[in-house]
Amino acid sequence: MKFNFPIVIIDEDFRSDNSSGYGIRVLAECIEKEGYDIIGVTSYVDLTSFAQQQSRASAFILAIDDEEFIEENPEALKKLGLFVEEIRYRNDEIPIFLHGETRTSRHIPNSILKELNGFIHMSEDTPEFVAKHIVREAKVYLDSLAPPFFRALTHYASDGSYSWHCPGHSGGVAFLKSPVGQMFHQFFGENMLRADVCNAVEELGQLLDHTGPVEASEKNAARIYRSDHCYFVTNGTSTSNKMVWNYNVAPGDVVVVDRNCHKSVLHSIIMTGAIPIFLMPTRNHFGIIGPIPKEEFSWDRIKEKINENPFITDKNVKPRVLTITQSTYDGVLYNVEDIKEMLDGKIDTLHFDEAWLPHAAFHEFYGDFHAIDSDRPRCSESLIFSTQSTHKLLAGLSQASQILVQDALMNKLDKELFNESYLMHTSTSPQYSIIASCDVAAAMMESPGGTALVEESILESLDFRRAMRKVDDEWGQDWWFKVWGPENLSENGLENRDSWVLQQTDKWHGFGKLSESFNMLDPIKSTIITPGLNVDGEFDTEFGIPAMIVTKYLAEHGVIVEKTGLYSFFIMFTIGITKGRWNTLVAALQQFKDDYDKNQPIWKVLPEFSQKYPMYESIGLKDLCDKIHTVFKENNIAKLTTEMYLSNMEPAMKPTDAFAKMAHKEIERVPIDDLEGRITSVLLTPYPPGIPLLIPGERFNKIIVDYLKFARSFNEKFPGFETDNHGLIKNYIDGKLTYYVDCVKTS
Ligand SMILES: *Cc1c(COP(=O)(O)O)cnc(C)c1O
Repeated sequence: MKFNFPIVIIDEDFRSDNSSGYGIRVLAECIEKEGYDIIGVTSYVDLTSFAQQQSRASAFILAIDDEEFIEENPEALKKLGLFVEEIRYRNDEIPIFLHGETRTSRHIPNSILKELNGFIHMSEDTPEFVAKHIVREAKVYLDSLAPPFFRALTHYASDGSYSWHCPGHSGGVAFLKSPVGQMFHQFFGENMLRADVCNAVEELGQLLDHTGPVEASEKNAARIYRSDHCYFVTNGTSTSNKMVWNYNVAPGDVVVVDRNCHKSVLHSIIMTGAIPIFLMPTRNHFGIIGPIPKEEFSWDRIKEKINENPFITDKNVKPRVLTITQSTYDGVLYNVEDIKEMLDGKIDTLHFDEAWLPHAAFHEFYGDFHAIDSDRPRCSESLIFSTQSTHKLLAGLSQASQILVQDALMNKLDKELFNESYLMHTSTSPQYSIIASCDVAAAMMESPGGTALVEESILESLDFRRAMRKVDDEWGQDWWFKVWGPENLSENGLENRDSWVLQQTDKWHGFGKLSESFNMLDPIKSTIITPGLNVDGEFDTEFGIPAMIVTKYLAEHGVIVEKTGLYSFFIMFTIGITKGRWNTLVAALQQFKDDYDKNQPIWKVLPEFSQKYPMYESIGLKDLCDKIHTVFKENNIAKLTTEMYLSNMEPAMKPTDAFAKMAHKEIERVPIDDLEGRITSVLLTPYPPGIPLLIPGERFNKIIVDYLKFARSFNEKFPGFETDNHGLIKNYIDGKLTYYVDCVKTS
């Protein structure tokens, strides 16, 4: 496989007719003869953005002019220094050469010289010789880039050997035999199909038993993520969580779990037959999930819950695992050292579901607010697991995930045992592109590049917040969207890390009283609040703009957001974010405000939606917002959804037993109106927010039933704006839509 990484020459004279211009062009020709492309430019223009070229170049040649020029031109030298610094901030390996007509290196300060791979004097060697030297260094650099598995895969895919093993498409050839297959082939391209191989290929190693290049990559990634062990997982963190659980939990074991965890953790409870004790998070009335208060983690409080639980007979039992969502959906983090201090040795395994937090180890901004780092103290007894969705915030393909482990001083991961659980959940035909993306995503985070990427994401998110405030100051006389977060955004936000730590006295978060320095907000998750609700959950009497209308509007204007709540929605500053992307969002929101203030008709501002749902055609945008806002207000929906999540859930059966009723068909389909007091067999998850509300084995209480009734009447009134509830079955009886939940049979 030949990769295309040109050598970049920056020289004012690159196109000039003088001898210096001639000399550099001859050198460029010689390099091209060696098989490398040249990009020749005459100035840096914007230093920072030009330094980004480091990701697609194989070397830089920076021209400096003769002695006199440098002496008369301190600015040029300064610019050169800044440029070298910008490159090294991201990349400490790419070769950089200086190129001059005379021996001028004595004019170059040491701080620059030490970053260079060479100083080329045009007159001292032949251009052919110099070109060979530069190309050799560029090649060494390029050869060092690919991490182990990706390297082996590119070699395999390009060596053109015929294979008799599966997959059946034989490196893509099968697709070429039919027209639609041809389309598929042209769309995905040769390499993707050639690299789609099966685990019979020896030279690539085995994911299932971690050998060869796979093992080398996992070791490399463990080093980069600063953990003791790393396992790549090709079926998402949903699967990573189940692997961690099957290694640690057996039927009847007691487990301690974040009540607002991802559904894969609840599936793990059902799958292992565990008895869960739940830790209850706070919520504010924007619907934002807050942290679990620190007291909830105290051993006394956990013991209390063990004592209260009807299914636990041995009240002195030691829980097997604690699982919490580290970075909640809305970006709230926990101080892991505090949790370790409280629970080390009390619970065997501390598991942090860091699906949204694989970036935190690469920037000191996050301090102790992520699970694993090599410079942090180990637990003495409890193993630490972190499960991360590489695909959510780093550069992994969908389903790319990983499990990181930190051993305790007196308790180490048993790799053989762990792999039994790993095997249970891994396909025997894993997708090799996903493994390669785990490998590459890790290599991208290698210092200093990874730190630079994370820093850029944070800085972009702060710039976005500032831009939103600027619009507010200049234009938002009557109303504008707010970004949830601390008031204080100093010019350089990274120096101001403390303001992202949630303080007791802060009003902005709306979580009430919190423990000192126990939580922090990750700025790269930005929750945007629409007008209509204050932080206490009281409805604005004047007007309100339900977020679902804003995000529908944005979608029709080409901006897709991550999650929509009642009066909030959120976006993420992943390492793939660009200025263009968030500026487009700000512009689209301004357009929304304009259209809203003018009460433009729906057919004009939401043409696609209006075609599908003509009943809204002639309604004004503002009028539609008012209509839905009024319904929300009349039903006090903000308080209702907050309180239903905080309401008391009575466990009537073990989750696994209630779920098992479905396999045995010992269930009844119960209509909403009859649900109160019944035991659910299924997981009930309202969207938004997509957090499971009721778990198999729990009884429906009044407030949850009230919510479902509200959802039903709302869906009838506002087709196209339906709130979705997983677990709710829809059926038409005599033309009337009825909703059911599968409950445990009573008789
Ligand atoms: C998305 C998510 C998961 C599941 O990750 P996938 O990679 O999508 O399978 C697990 N936990 C949390 C908290 C998540 O947000």
